Amino acid sequence: MNDKLKLETILMHLAEEREAYKGAVVPPIFQNSLFTFKDWQSIDEAFEDRINQFIYSRGKNPTVKMVEEKIAHMAGGERAQLFPSGMAAITASCLHFLEPHDHVIAVKNLYGPANNLLKNYLVKKMNIEITFVSGENIQDFENAIQENTKLIYLESPSTAVFTLQDIQAVAELAKQRNIKTMIDNTWATPIFQKPLAMGIDLEVHSCSKYLGGHSDLVGGVVIGRQEDIDDIFHHEYELLGAKTAPMEAWLLMRSLRTLPMRMEKHQSNALAVAQFLESHPKIEVVHYPGLPDFPQYTLGQKQMSGYTGLMAFKLKTNMLEKIKAFVNSLKIFQVGVSWGGHESLVYAPAISYLKELDEEQFKGLGISLGDIRISVGLEHKDDLINDLRNALETSFEL
Ligand SMILES: *Cc1c(COP(=O)(O)O)cnc(C)c1O
Repeated sequence: MNDKLKLETILMHLAEEREAYKGAVVPPIFQNSLFTFKDWQSIDEAFEDRINQFIYSRGKNPTVKMVEEKIAHMAGGERAQLFPSGMAAITASCLHFLEPHDHVIAVKNLYGPANNLLKNYLVKKMNIEITFVSGENIQDFENAIQENTKLIYLESPSTAVFTLQDIQAVAELAKQRNIKTMIDNTWATPIFQKPLAMGIDLEVHSCSKYLGGHSDLVGGVVIGRQEDIDDIFHHEYELLGAKTAPMEAWLLMRSLRTLPMRMEKHQSNALAVAQFLESHPKIEVVHYPGLPDFPQYTLGQKQMSGYTGLMAFKLKTNMLEKIKAFVNSLKIFQVGVSWGGHESLVYAPAISYLKELDEEQFKGLGISLGDIRISVGLEHKDDLINDLRNALETSFEL
């Protein structure tokens, strides 16, 4: 396809060969486990080129491949590999770079299960060493480097407190020291942040969030250089059997067609909501990288071209009953985990933490009971703001 076309146009058409499927405007779902060949010689030749040929759907599948080509183009990578979940993509990327006794530097606010994978699972299974850093200064990384450091794992912005890392500076440092880098780019999406162009080796996403965007699929993707992605395909994908369902890939292809437009809307809605919350007397602080008052706003402006819809804020109360009343008073924001879909959601870290800790221990962690996370969806911003205003007015007094 013509590389001079704009992203919106390319996402509609790239990798779709309509004449090959009778002109169907939407490609079919290739829901087949195997592919047949006309004779001995043609299957023999297919085995010579397993990266590009369709033989068995634990390997390459045409529906999955179409989506991979679109995502690779969008992120500016040579290749992309879809996975059945974001966690499968993260696990594959870690296993690709790591060998037993290697050392990893990761940001301490990493997505919870990724943190668990490194700290509990890989430490136990592979004796890897791990250092968590706050990641706000390049010195954090420099100081943590050891002889056996093989990988630096970033998540910018993080999706707990939205802290950023200087992606280009970390990539340069890592290259000088011969260390590989990966980033979880789920929050910003390739629409608003291009880590591969800043020198990062692998970019991973949960497609269950904005890339899918309709809360009807779970998926993941890794994007990078051909040599890394081909190796991940042969080992962590095909050998470990992390096969992507063609149906999920097909839903994701549908979603990518509207991704640029959805992200513009998430951005304008979220900015309006963040500004409303910031000015409300019952809100102590809003954590949102798109607000000029955000502590790392300048860094965000340097490395992102826009902001998405997930943010957190703190209510000016520490009384659990009032916090519960606030959450329960919301009518449009629905209570649930995950984020990045068309619908607005609310979640409080206290819901899961209080299962393991009492209120005193909880405060000791530096998280407050009144911390609330919202995913701003695609409803009209006035309705979202009115919903929040009403819940703030009715749930507690200062
Ligand atoms: C949800 C999420 C993941 C994991 O993705 P799944 O598709 O749920 O496996 C990884 N990173 C971030 C930042 C996420 O929000």
